[in-house]
Amino acid sequence: MSGVSMKSRILLLGPPGAGKGTQAATLTEALDIPHISTGDMLRAAVKAGTPVGRKAKAVMDSGELVSDEIVIGIAEERLSEDDAREGFLLDGFPRTLAQADALDAMLGRLDVELDCCLAITVDNEAVVGRLLKRAEIEGRADDNEETIRERMRVYDAETAPLLEFYGNRDRLVEVDGLGTINEVGERIRKSLNG
Ligand code: AMP
Repeated sequence: MSGVSMKSRILLLGPPGAGKGTQAATLTEALDIPHISTGDMLRAAVKAGTPVGRKAKAVMDSGELVSDEIVIGIAEERLSEDDAREGFLLDGFPRTLAQADALDAMLGRLDVELDCCLAITVDNEAVVGRLLKRAEIEGRADDNEETIRERMRVYDAETAPLLEFYGNRDRLVEVDGLGTINEVGERIRKSLNG
């Protein structure tokens, strides 16, 4: 993959079910950067029964957002690790404007800048179908229809404003998330190389 070394601090945005996790896995492998998913870290904390996990579980199961304070703390800890020094892909963080401001501050402390905010766009109804299918396969507690709709509502209210936040700084790259995994992956590669 050529040209991408310039864009190795990436933030991935998109509604639940847009395929962020799948695309993030491919992209981080190709770019050799860590995949930092606050959702994965929170699920691991729930599984391990840590204090953070115990606080987060009910909130996650209901489709709401875990508090900014908790999430900002785990994101900063992870971003400060050595393997994230040269690059990283953030998946699922930031999700609120307060988190985006906190991310700015932590990147400032680390003396690095975000290269790109990659937004995967999809139709809400199409992703509900996708998520219900994933619920069957993975058995995630937050993948029933009611919770899925709540997560969409939360995305529209809390996270969608970040598109404008990063758009205003000329960091936003939007990619159509409709199609096969490979088709979307190809669009992402093209947009990062462009
Ligand atoms: P995800 O796997 O990214 O969809 O995250 C699963 C759940 O973890 C979300 O529905 C939230 O409850 C919680 N979560 C993950 N990342 C964040 C975040 N940045 N801010 C608040 N809650 C989060």
